[in-house]
Amino acid sequence: MQHQTNYEIAEQQADPVAIDAALEGARRTPFWEDDQPRGAHFSALSGNETADLVVVGGGFAGLWTALLAKERDPGRDVVLLEAERIGWAASGRNGGFCEPSLTHGRANAKVHLPGEIETLERLGEENLEALLATLTRYGIDADVVDQGVVKIATERYQEAYLEEMAAAEPTMRLLRGEELRQEINTPAAQLGNWATADGVVLNPIKLVYGLREVCERLGVRICEDTRVTGLRRDGDGMRVSAQGGAISARRVALATNGFKALLARDRWMTVPVYDYAIVTEPLTPAQRESLGWKKRQGLTDLNNRFHYLRLITDAAGQERLLIGGYDALYHFGRKVRPEQDYSEPTFRRLVVHLGVIFPQLNGIKISHAWGGMIDTCTRFFSFFTTAHGGRVAAAAGFTGLGVAATRFAGEVMLDLLDGKDTERTRTQLVKKRPFPFPPEPIAWPAIRFTAAQMARADRSEGKRGVWLRTLDAFKLGFDS
Ligand SMILES: Cc1cc2nc3c(=O)[nH]c(=O)nc-3n(C[C@H](O)[C@H](O)[C@H](O)COP(=O)(O)OP(=O)(O)OC[C@H]3O[C@@H](n4cnc5c(N)ncnc54)[C@H](O)[C@@H]3O)c2cc1C
Repeated sequence: MQHQTNYEIAEQQADPVAIDAALEGARRTPFWEDDQPRGAHFSALSGNETADLVVVGGGFAGLWTALLAKERDPGRDVVLLEAERIGWAASGRNGGFCEPSLTHGRANAKVHLPGEIETLERLGEENLEALLATLTRYGIDADVVDQGVVKIATERYQEAYLEEMAAAEPTMRLLRGEELRQEINTPAAQLGNWATADGVVLNPIKLVYGLREVCERLGVRICEDTRVTGLRRDGDGMRVSAQGGAISARRVALATNGFKALLARDRWMTVPVYDYAIVTEPLTPAQRESLGWKKRQGLTDLNNRFHYLRLITDAAGQERLLIGGYDALYHFGRKVRPEQDYSEPTFRRLVVHLGVIFPQLNGIKISHAWGGMIDTCTRFFSFFTTAHGGRVAAAAGFTGLGVAATRFAGEVMLDLLDGKDTERTRTQLVKKRPFPFPPEPIAWPAIRFTAAQMARADRSEGKRGVWLRTLDAFKLGFDS
């Protein structure tokens, strides 16, 4: 039997005038970039050049690839080409949850790579350790909070799942009733599960700018406003054509996320899905006090349409709260358009849902509301491609969990381009590719129908209907 979730009930009871008031004046722009001065603007590529390695895409994946390439071989001439500005896309728009998993969680690894769970978990943990060590080594201050993630059961049926998780994993701690409220003062759940080893939360734009600065320091040549338009073989290497110029390079790493893939074989592998977030104005001391949340862990719930929440310290040292997730919107024809970065109905829902989790913030104003594109693939974690006889490597498909996994992808792309046989390149994660998505007009109704079925499962105590079970049987289903 279906019944409305607590969030849906709250939506029905919400006062539209109060939602208007909360969102009135909210800037429709990512909080992170608005809060921190962007600094350097790099010139576009002009004319013909040469390089040992060209990296295409200036998000986390491209920045890590360029940085690691220089660390591995300081003499290598590395050029990073970015179509717009470094970090303007997903890397500068995300929630900043930096989790070790390379497979979008253990349950998803069990479905897709059951023989490699332990190896991939260890590689994911090592990757996160190396990421944090890099921040320390170069003095990058990305406001890291190393307290893991608290997952809360906002529906009673979810409590059994949290108990199961905690029983299977010694680093998880169940928080019941008062114990939960001691950590995070929410009336929305009676049970929480504190996954102490589930990584860190950080400020993503400070990480972008830090990586950008280190790349420059190590001698990476960065070009912004430089869209790569084509690749072709050129003697022993590749010719990379871009707006304004071209580069002859020995090797090319493609880190273009869900934007149009430069390799034809990758065009059907991902679909762009939009995720949204809002940030509050600075919390008053009384509002801040009312939350508890002294350790500032990441916070998520357990629905298929899940939320993520966290505290932020802004540039002025004031604390704010971010809530994101829930809606995940796909637009017909794999469209990527700036206007899709904003979804007013989603922003309104997030205001209401924030009130469910923290009713004590009633009346708080939202200062920023935005969204961004996620490169969703059918297995929900990254895949790798090589082309042109090993001269080109590509990584994409992070599906909303790429803050840490993009660093691992940088290592893998360099292993592949350098012809290195490593533990990483031997994994099925690297060797095996996911199913492609179907073309239109099939993709849009199929994705929309799947999203509706996931919402239905949320209303049916998590029970998955025939469609979701069929997808699961074909290893195409996702269960958050
Ligand atoms: C709202 C939102 C919230 C998220 N929250 C989280 C989270 O909390 N934790 C988490 O782990 N992940 C999260 N993610 C996902 C995470 O942000 C991404 O997985 C990660 O940033 C991907 O990095 P990237 O470098 O692959 O992509 P991007 O940051 O998108 O960078 C790709 C770059 O390639 C450039 N490009 C594309 N085509 C070309 C071309 N032809 N020539 C030149 N340049 C090109 C683009 O301009 C872009 O700058 C979230 C994403 C969004 C949108």
